[in-house]
Amino acid sequence: MHHAPVPLGTFPTPLEPAPRLAAALGLGPDDLWVKRDDLTGLGGGGNKIRKLEWMMGAALAEGADTVVTTGAPQSNHARLTAAAGARLGLDVVLVLRGTPGTSRSGNLALDGLFGARLAWAGEVDRAGLDTAAAEVCARLRSDGARPALIPFGGSSALGARGYLRCGEELREQLPDLRTAVVALGSGGTMAGLVAALGSGSVLGVDVGALTDPAAAVSNLATTLTDAEVTREGLRIRRDQVGAGYATLTAPAREALRLAARTEGLVLDPIYTGRALAGLGAAVQDGDIRPGEKTVFLHTGGLPGLFGHPDAIAFAEEGAGVFDA
Ligand SMILES: *Cc1c(COP(=O)(O)O)cnc(C)c1O
Repeated sequence: MHHAPVPLGTFPTPLEPAPRLAAALGLGPDDLWVKRDDLTGLGGGGNKIRKLEWMMGAALAEGADTVVTTGAPQSNHARLTAAAGARLGLDVVLVLRGTPGTSRSGNLALDGLFGARLAWAGEVDRAGLDTAAAEVCARLRSDGARPALIPFGGSSALGARGYLRCGEELREQLPDLRTAVVALGSGGTMAGLVAALGSGSVLGVDVGALTDPAAAVSNLATTLTDAEVTREGLRIRRDQVGAGYATLTAPAREALRLAARTEGLVLDPIYTGRALAGLGAAVQDGDIRPGEKTVFLHTGGLPGLFGHPDAIAFAEEGAGVFDA
């Protein structure tokens, strides 16, 4: 059953050329385009808005008065769920990994501004986070509320539908698109693009949020298409995970600096920094070639930069000293 999506964002998002970044990566000046899904509007923007349009539509249709979702302390998805709840007049409870003080500023500051309530789950794994969220929903129900649970990262079959539309926008904006490069977190974004554009046209750069990202993407994409999307056909790089999900890797650091200094484009340390590093690695090993049209999907995440102390220290280090 598919309820209608509720409009939350500003679409279609722009597709912009990035000739100086292209040259720095070894591509031709017309080869590289940036799909600005960081400019989706609501709540600071980002890819989760397209998914939330579907999932909030379903929550409203079910008569929910509260939405509950899960994430890391600096979850962009949690922040945008809080913003969408505010926009729609729904209460929001965010079930976050860790304890108060685990992380500060960034997305957490915005969660507070949007009026979300936080439930800290402790140092738990994905299953532990899901259990904590189920307990929060049970408590809300016993208090007389009507909660709707939105899954981790918004990556249900319903949420992933939002990225079908992004794929359709891309086909119109750049008909000879060869590869769209996207960060792969919980998998819904890549899955929707694969369903719209085909497995061969999407390169996912895994950030290390899932143990089996190929299974997640093939399962979600299969729900959106008539034919089975096999895991073997997917293009996924796992060389940018580094020491784990929340770490700032050396290639991501360089990618942040490169995008900022060639195009004035700000990436985040966890997702888009790794995705651009993966794009660069794909050019180096010939998976992406000059003369082909490549799209870098900017999925947002800017608040996360300000919630990541290592990224802030690195960014501040970059300023030169003007010696008068
Ligand atoms: C969540 C997120 C992603 C990954 O999207 P998934 O659908 O979870 O794979 C990429 N970039 C940013 C900024 C995100 O917040």
